[in-house]
Amino acid sequence: MFENNVSRRGFVTGAAAVAGLAGLSTIAPGLAGADPKIGDQHREEEFAASDVSAAALMTFQKIDGTPVYYWRSNRGNTTARNWQATDAFYNALVAWIRDLRSLSSSYGSISYIVSAGFYVNKAGQHGAGTAMDLDHVRWSGGNTISPLDRAHASGTASVRKRYLATEAVCRRRFRYVLDGWYNADHADHIHADFGGMPVRAVKDSESDTKFVQAVCNNFRGSGLAIDGIWGPATTSAFNGLKSALAVTGDPHTSSSVWQSMLSKIATKGFANQNI
Ligand SMILES: [Zn+2]
Repeated sequence: MFENNVSRRGFVTGAAAVAGLAGLSTIAPGLAGADPKIGDQHREEEFAASDVSAAALMTFQKIDGTPVYYWRSNRGNTTARNWQATDAFYNALVAWIRDLRSLSSSYGSISYIVSAGFYVNKAGQHGAGTAMDLDHVRWSGGNTISPLDRAHASGTASVRKRYLATEAVCRRRFRYVLDGWYNADHADHIHADFGGMPVRAVKDSESDTKFVQAVCNNFRGSGLAIDGIWGPATTSAFNGLKSALAVTGDPHTSSSVWQSMLSKIATKGFANQNI
């Protein structure tokens, strides 16, 4: 279950390396749509520092001052824990949590987050120190969102909206975000990774399409099949969503337009409002 698509991971890493060396514009059209279909459950022993790459990783217990706990072996544990990631990925995490604080400020401050792993001693984005698995967020006002408890499948609409709001914030800063609708491996956490590519709404990305379909269903009652296939019904629902949010420009080609749209989705989700 851990190594079910090695070639795809290798491809993503290679494309990211190209992007880093020569700029994002060198990536051929369509390549950014590939989803990393990774095994994403990490064993405790896989958190040991890598002999090879440890020097390239930084260690943190907090993201921009917010503690990050680990509940997979002890639910509710608030012991400080050493996590590892690259400097660049940590910087992206700081940008992400600042977005999250800003967009969810009506909930108070963020008391802590819970993760199932950043750097993990295995292949892929986790092995490169450029991924996060998000299990839980707790705000000072008492609100929580718990992907660990499969909040995407909650019977409570406000909880599903809050999950999608949290995911939308992840999507502002991380190209690849895999959620509970994406596959069973991600039913209990939100995976976010670098991928080295710009954030956009990519029609041939299964994970992007499922996110859009879930947003349209949960905020607008669109009644779409969440199948990851961007067909005419999804196009129509997405255009309705864009219009209702007063989004101008093309979220498929412009990162800034997509980021702005994601902020509006997050704002509605944290406020438990339809769109
Ligand atoms: Zn992951």
